[in-house]
Amino acid sequence: MAFEGLSDKLAAAFKKLKSKGRLNEDDIKVAMREVRLALLEADVNYKVVKDFVKDVSARAVGADVLESLTPAQQVIKIVNEELCRLMGSENARINIPSKPPCIIMMCGLQGSGKTTHSAKLAKHFRSQGHRPLLVACDVYRPAAIDQLKVVGAKAEAPVFELGQIDPVQIAQKAVAHAKDHGNDIVILDTAGRLHIDEELMNELKNIKSAVSPNEILLVVDSMTGQDAVNVAQSFDETLGIDGVILTKLDGDTRGGAALSVLAVTGKPVKFAGIGEKLEDLEPFHPERMASRILGMGDVLTLIEKAQTTIDEKKTGEMMNKLKESSFDMNDLLDYMSQIKKMGPLKQLVNMIPGVSGKIKDEDIDDRQMVRLEAMITSMTKAERENPKIINPSRKRRIAMGSGTKVEDVNRLLKQFEMMQKMMKQFGGKGGKKKRRRGFP
Ligand code: GDP
Repeated sequence: MAFEGLSDKLAAAFKKLKSKGRLNEDDIKVAMREVRLALLEADVNYKVVKDFVKDVSARAVGADVLESLTPAQQVIKIVNEELCRLMGSENARINIPSKPPCIIMMCGLQGSGKTTHSAKLAKHFRSQGHRPLLVACDVYRPAAIDQLKVVGAKAEAPVFELGQIDPVQIAQKAVAHAKDHGNDIVILDTAGRLHIDEELMNELKNIKSAVSPNEILLVVDSMTGQDAVNVAQSFDETLGIDGVILTKLDGDTRGGAALSVLAVTGKPVKFAGIGEKLEDLEPFHPERMASRILGMGDVLTLIEKAQTTIDEKKTGEMMNKLKESSFDMNDLLDYMSQIKKMGPLKQLVNMIPGVSGKIKDEDIDDRQMVRLEAMITSMTKAERENPKIINPSRKRRIAMGSGTKVEDVNRLLKQFEMMQKMMKQFGGKGGKKKRRRGFP
């Protein structure tokens, strides 16, 4: 899971702070030293870490924090805000011009995930009602054209290819083709190299000047950490980029690239790739990433994922229940059966408030889901609607009925209670919602 190490280390630093009633400047200093180490171990750029810790420390030693009744929580709040700021505060979108087609040029090193993400973007835009055209501009590897055709078919997007001719010509003809065929988005899958070289950059510059893309998106592999950031910096200096797609975040336990790209290059991360399948693409929301790093879950992304797989009526009902805090075990059961449709459990579980960070990847398996379902279906209607009535004898009955142990039932009830608590905070009204979200 992304940010795993960082989340654990930050949690440990904050736990120590929380165990103290009042804080003084020395306590903050010690905690900030740990935050600094945690960020460096997560492979965040050295200078970014230095500035980050300086900013957080300056705010944390302010009188309103030290004298507040919950200083540790105030510090966590500041870290959360600064993490958001570091990653860009809000989701940087793709600028779609009013006059189609919108030309998106994908570039990046070989193996970074360019072709996969061209198709992921096509699928993403199709789900929004657009008509994207994928264009095979990587003419050096014949396999690259075939690969684009395969993923294009999966994304149900047409692929424009002219074989192994000059990519500049292909790009120009593709744009004309898009205009003739009503494709409002053109996604150019350009060639990559193992390293940045002049020839590649010249080719990209030529494509850029021939078709004037609306967006140049650089695809970088987050698992390469600071190398990814250096690649972004070079591409930006030489070619000029509008944003970054950070791929393979699912396998990046450190998260250094996600936290450094904007600060180092000035260009935002616009999307994150979180798996090999075409639906494994998320618009990059700094606020939600910060929440995940701090183990606070990410309900919004979860709901959006749900919206793409669950029918609208159900999603609406779920949103209302979350808002009204009337989410019961029946809803949880319903929710779990929908979740199964949404993708690997490992990815989703960390988005659930109160659960994130508390369950390790290796503990998550589908059998656990089956056990949870068995426990809930062994409850009576009244128990599902109001789990508080589940006393020890009811727990024994539920455990017997579901082939589990009383401890399992206890754990489920406890997690459910935590979930309800978090959702209550999430569902508050207006400004209160925003201010309190995620701070237990
Ligand atoms: P390209 O050379 O830049 O076009 O890279 P590809 O699109 O061919 O991707 C290289 C490899 O990375 C393929 O095996 C992809 O399945 C894999 N890949 C791409 N994006 C992701 C991602 O977000 N997560 C994971 N786990 N694998 C990815």
